[in-house]
Amino acid sequence: MATPANPYSRRKFLWIATATAASTIPLKGCLGNPPETTGGSTTTNTPTATGTVSGPAPETTKIRLGYIPIVESAPLIIAKEKGFFAKYGMPDVDVAKQANWASARDNVVIGSDKGGIDGGQWQMPMPHLLTAGIITNGQKVPMYLLAQLNTQGNGIAVSGKNAGKGLGLKINDPDYIKGFEKTEGRKFKAAHTFPNVNQDFWIRYWFAASGVDPDKDIDLLAVPPAETVQGMRNGTMDAFSTGDPWPYRIVSDEIGFMAALTNEIWKFHPEEYLAIRADWVDKNPNATKALLKAVMEAQQWCDRPENRKELVEICAGRNYFNVPVAVLRPPYEGKYAMGDNKPNVDNFKSGPLYWKDDLGSVSYPYKSHDLWFLTETMRWGFHDNAIKDFDMAKKLIDSVNREDIWKEAAKEAGFTADIPTSTSRGIETFFDGIKFDPANPEAYLKSLKVKRA
Ligand code: CA
Repeated sequence: MATPANPYSRRKFLWIATATAASTIPLKGCLGNPPETTGGSTTTNTPTATGTVSGPAPETTKIRLGYIPIVESAPLIIAKEKGFFAKYGMPDVDVAKQANWASARDNVVIGSDKGGIDGGQWQMPMPHLLTAGIITNGQKVPMYLLAQLNTQGNGIAVSGKNAGKGLGLKINDPDYIKGFEKTEGRKFKAAHTFPNVNQDFWIRYWFAASGVDPDKDIDLLAVPPAETVQGMRNGTMDAFSTGDPWPYRIVSDEIGFMAALTNEIWKFHPEEYLAIRADWVDKNPNATKALLKAVMEAQQWCDRPENRKELVEICAGRNYFNVPVAVLRPPYEGKYAMGDNKPNVDNFKSGPLYWKDDLGSVSYPYKSHDLWFLTETMRWGFHDNAIKDFDMAKKLIDSVNREDIWKEAAKEAGFTADIPTSTSRGIETFFDGIKFDPANPEAYLKSLKVKRA
């Protein structure tokens, strides 16, 4: 396996220089209800972050949260492993690996009482679709969206067979893709891991921005990652909408190259979220806030550059991602070998971020981002146009998005400086100049050339 040269030691040194302050700040005084057990099943030492343990005692100490072994899940894993769940009185949180998104969906329908899960990590807008019964054969499973887990960390990979054809952030020659059937005897074939959610949206946006219609000009399918990578290797699969740590392997194993990172398509875009069954939250409001405080503290821990080495070691472990540390380290340092003669990316803020970015809070679930995902759902006519109009979209968002609980938890923990003042992050701008104004989503839909709506 070819390892890309790694000329980044200077950056590492700079990180170390910023590493001291956080660990010397003492924990603020506990105002009550400290957890009876600390540590428990956790593997490591005292939390180093500074949230205040306050508020009424959690109604329960346990919940089962599903996760998928990709970088989006890090805050859940870190909250468990670094003892943050325990710190806030939830020592028995079970962070449970899900085989794939379909399993996560099926398990949350079942609930933890019957061996499923109570909530966890979701692509968008799965919580809204579950709530409306759109991806569960009409069975409504009301969910509350409680926090965003991360931004960025995803990208569009293309197989080596298509190198040298100008497939970058912009597709220089869309006719190369549209003409594939004539030259190759089959359509250009692209994959994501689950339909009608983030990865599907990112690759659709990328194709459509260059005038390639993802429903007509190519074959776009849901395929398990291992099968996709095998197809890219043997020349039967052309593109993969994927997330870290896959991009590293695509390039280092010489399977292909990265056409674009999602942070180039939409800088600091919304990515995956924490959502829990509404019945669980309604029954356990204090435990919900305790969970949220722990996740918030984990997110802050994750974003301290000096913690990234340990983050990688924990997440790469056999119990979690089960990948070599070397595969996970580069994205966590913001380093992406792009391949196909594209310059490498080396910017901490191009990789996954968890707590804050240059546009505001990462953790806070902006309603304006939910609206983009539902607008995009309408754009492509997903689920037989089950999201009928913006009225329905907004009502659904108001029932699912519980940014109010996020704010309460942040306040109780003392993370007050990072609480946004609006439920909207404002106008969003994409790489092709298209703008999404949450106050006027109709104008965004109108401005798009390739669409079903
Ligand atoms: Ca993702």
